[in-house]
Amino acid sequence: MDDGVMKENIGKVWLAGAGPGDAGLLTVKAAHLIESADVIVYDALISTELLSRIPQDAETIYVGKHSGNHPVPQHEINQILVREAKKGKKVLRLKGGDPFVFGRGGEELETLVSEQIPFEVVPGITSSVAVPAYAGIPVTHRDYTSSFHVITGHARKDGTLSIDFDSLVRLNGTLVFLMSVSSMEKILKGLTDAGMDPDMPAAVLERGTTARQRRVTATVGTLKEESDRAGISTPAIIVVGKVCALADELHWAEDRPLGGRQFLLTRPRQNISSLAGRLRDLGAQVIEMPAIHTEAISPNERLKCTLERFGQHEGGKWLVFTSPIGVNVFFDTLKEMKIDLRSVLAGAGKVRIGAIGSATAEALCGYGLIPDAVPETYSAGELGKELAEMSEPGEYALIVRAEKGSPDLIPPLTEKGLFVDDIPLYRTVYEVNTMLKEEVMRMLQNGEIDAVTFTSASTVRGFVRAMGENEIDYGSVCAVCIGEQTARAAAEYGMQIEISDQASMDAMVEKILELFGNRR
Ligand code: SAH
Repeated sequence: MDDGVMKENIGKVWLAGAGPGDAGLLTVKAAHLIESADVIVYDALISTELLSRIPQDAETIYVGKHSGNHPVPQHEINQILVREAKKGKKVLRLKGGDPFVFGRGGEELETLVSEQIPFEVVPGITSSVAVPAYAGIPVTHRDYTSSFHVITGHARKDGTLSIDFDSLVRLNGTLVFLMSVSSMEKILKGLTDAGMDPDMPAAVLERGTTARQRRVTATVGTLKEESDRAGISTPAIIVVGKVCALADELHWAEDRPLGGRQFLLTRPRQNISSLAGRLRDLGAQVIEMPAIHTEAISPNERLKCTLERFGQHEGGKWLVFTSPIGVNVFFDTLKEMKIDLRSVLAGAGKVRIGAIGSATAEALCGYGLIPDAVPETYSAGELGKELAEMSEPGEYALIVRAEKGSPDLIPPLTEKGLFVDDIPLYRTVYEVNTMLKEEVMRMLQNGEIDAVTFTSASTVRGFVRAMGENEIDYGSVCAVCIGEQTARAAAEYGMQIEISDQASMDAMVEKILELFGNRR
C-alpha cells in the first residue's frame, strides 16, 4: 500500500476432485484442503461420507440439484467462486470424480483466469476407472482390450446423441459411458447398428465405490432389459467390452466383511476416527456426525484447590476417571495450570486409581497410571460399588469427570463412609450438523444406514436433538450401544437396541461384525 493504491486481498481457488464416493479414494491433497479451506463449494455427486469430513466451522455452499429443483447454472457457480475468492478466502471447489472429466472444470478456470484469480487444480480419481474397478472390471486387460474410451451419454436438447458409433465400434476397446442411464437404449442400439455383436458383454454400475453400489452385467443386447428389471438409476455408468465378463470372477468390494454396509457414528470428533477407521478397513462406509463435543472447563480453579487437598490427605485415597476424554482433559488441565503430578500423588496415604472401563483404563496407561479398579461391566453404579468394596470408611474419593455425570457413582461411596469430591473437568455440548441433517434423515428413513453407534447416553440425546424428536421413526433405527446406560437412553426413544459385550472399541467392532458381517 506504499504506492498509495489499495490492493485487493485476493484469495485463491482450488479446483479439486473428490473421487467417486468412497472417502478412502480422496487424494491426500484434497483431504488436506477439506480440513483447511475457508469455504467449500460442492455439488450433488459428493457422498455424504465425504461431506461428513468437512469441519463444522468451514462454510459450505451447495450448488447441486435439490430434489425436484434445478441445479445452480454454471455461470452462477463461476460467479460464486469469483465472489468468494475476492473476499480473500481460500475456496475449495469440490467436484465428484476428476474435475476435468465431464466436470466443467475448464469453464470454471476460464472465468478465474479472466478475473485474475489464482488457482490450483487437484485431480481426482475418476468414476470412469474407479467404478469399474470396484465392480471387478479392469478397464484394460492384455487378453481382451488394448484401449479404453470415456464417452458422455448426455443427449443434446433435441434428444440426439453426438456419438460417432462407427468409429467407437472400430476401436475395439472398452467403452465407458458417463451420464448414460437415460440414454441407455439409444447407446446400445447405436452400437449394434454400427455392427457390434449383441452378445458383447456389457454392464451398468450404479453408485459405484459406495456402500450402495450395484452391478448389473449382461450383453449389449440384453443390458437395457436387465437394468430396468433391477431399477438402476443415476448416477451410474455403462461399460461395454469383453472385460465386463470378468466381474463375475473378480468382484470383491461387496465381499469384504462389512462391504455394502453403512454406519453413522455419533462420537465426539476427537475420538471418532479410531472406530471409523476400523469399520472402513472392513469395507464399510462411515458417516461421521458427532452429536456432541466437549469443552474443557478452563481455567479450573476448583480442580486446583481440590487437588491440593487431595495431595495433603493422609489416609487412603482414590482418583477416579469415567471417560477417556476425562483422562485427557485432566492431564491437559494439569499442564495448563502447571500442576505437577507428584504433588497430586503426594501425602502419606496410598493413592489408588479407578477407571470406569477398559478405554478409560487404556487412556490412563498412556500417562503411566495403571488403574487399580476397573469394573467388569461399564456403568457408573458398578464402578461405585467396586470402589466401595475395595475401600475402608474414611478414605477419600476424588472423582474427576464431566459436568452432570451419572449420579449412580456417589451413593455406594458415601454409604461406605468415604469422603467424596466430584469435580467437573469438562462439559458436553450438543452439536447439530445442519449440512448433513436432511440427507441423514432421508438415509435413515430409506433404510440406507444399517446402524447408528452410540458411545454414551449423551451421544444418544445429542443425536435425537439434532435429528428432531418427532421427525423420524426411531423405532427403525438400529442402535449399537457401548453399554447398558447408553442402551437405556436409546431405548427411551424406542430404538432397536444392540449392546456391545464390553465397553471398548474392539468389542463395538466385534458386535457390528456379528450383526452385519458378510460370512462369505
Ligand atoms: N467428473 C466425474 C464425472 C462427472 S459426470 C468423474 O470424473 O467421475 C457425472 C457422471 O459420472 C454420472 O452421471 C455417472 O455417469 C458418473 N458417476 C460419477 N460418480 C459415480 C458413481 N459413484 N457411480 C456411478 N457413476 C458415477
